[in-house]
Amino acid sequence: MKTEVSAQANVSAANVKQPQAAAGGTARILDGNALSAKLRDQLAQRAAALKAKGVTPCLAVILVGEDPASQVYVRNKVNGCEKTGIRSLKDVYPPDVDPKVVLDRIAELNADPGVHGILVQLPLPKHFNSDAVLEAISPEKDVDGFHAENVGALMQGNPRFIPCTPYGVMKMLESENVPLKGAEAVIVGRSNIVGKPMAMLLLSKSATVTVCHSQSKELAFHTRRADILVAAVGRAKMITGDMIKPGATVIDVGINRQADGKLCGDVDFESAKDVAGVITPVPGGVGPMTITMLLTNTLESAERTVK
Ligand code: NDP
Repeated sequence: MKTEVSAQANVSAANVKQPQAAAGGTARILDGNALSAKLRDQLAQRAAALKAKGVTPCLAVILVGEDPASQVYVRNKVNGCEKTGIRSLKDVYPPDVDPKVVLDRIAELNADPGVHGILVQLPLPKHFNSDAVLEAISPEKDVDGFHAENVGALMQGNPRFIPCTPYGVMKMLESENVPLKGAEAVIVGRSNIVGKPMAMLLLSKSATVTVCHSQSKELAFHTRRADILVAAVGRAKMITGDMIKPGATVIDVGINRQADGKLCGDVDFESAKDVAGVITPVPGGVGPMTITMLLTNTLESAERTVK
């Protein structure tokens, strides 16, 4: 194992007015980098205030294997910590590591009062029981919000940690004052990481939520009804402009690598931008917000220790 420590009222859908596209029919771009920068400035101030009270917020990240995408995600998370004044620990294990070694390390981090957040980068190699690993993380330090106790708390409307990607999407919607109450929200994708918690969060804000998946019939029928459309599938450009309601807010969670090496989302940005009212780009949309919300959860966890 290699450990690195960083330096540091009923509303009908028809009445829910959604943001409109700018003149010329081009959607407003919801810039995740700009919003993240603003939020991270606020987080840095909160981290400094905590340090003044003698508490340095700390996130421990565990990476198993050499998956290049995972390595990039972990690097971005560690960099995000450093720039915000959050200390980070990074444990890197070879792909064939005995899962017990990782579970023992999680137990050690659970017991360490100086660690406020623990994250295991997914996916784990096939010989791991991922659920068992996620359940081994103390729910009080589960800054990804994947532990069953935290999933249950979110479901009950009393979350301790909100999963970072849907949390980031909610912040983006809030930043644009997108009306949620009574809005038709359609989520494409039902994963535990994105789709399901996204549905819970939108439901908690009184949107009418539809969740589509690989077995859904007539996907376009659903997406065309959406005031808020969240795509979280992992299929390049599968949502095209003709599948979008004019003026809708389109949130593209997908990250797909194209043949030319460039990244794209699940939404075909070129055709969607002429129909949507607001749209997130890929890259530079939901991605940076995910990391920002991870930093937020870590800080909140550290703040709880001094309250
Ligand atoms: P999963 O593979 O876990 O889930 C994909 C979901 O899409 C499943 O529910 C699947 O349905 C559904 N799906 C697959 N094909 C279709 C189809 N043809 N029509 C409708 N639904 C379909 O992926 P994740 O939720 O983990 O991630 C989704 C995407 O978001 C990926 O591109 C991922 O890289 C990206 N991502 C981005 C993040 C960010 O920070 N921006 C963070 C996390 C993920 P079924 O359940 O029936 O199989």
